[in-house]
Amino acid sequence: MNRKLVCFNCAATSSPIWRRTLDRKNNICNACGACVRAIPIVMLY
Ligand SMILES: [Zn+2]
Repeated sequence: MNRKLVCFNCAATSSPIWRRTLDRKNNICNACGACVRAIPIVMLY
């Protein structure tokens, strides 16, 4: 997998689960997703 995702909130580049902000414009990591309302992203690795 070569997805280059960067957390919009903390700039992390690795996370077991990625989420997306409600406006669907930014990706955020799992840790930030716990405190920021976000939509879980289902990814097929
Ligand atoms: Zn984060």
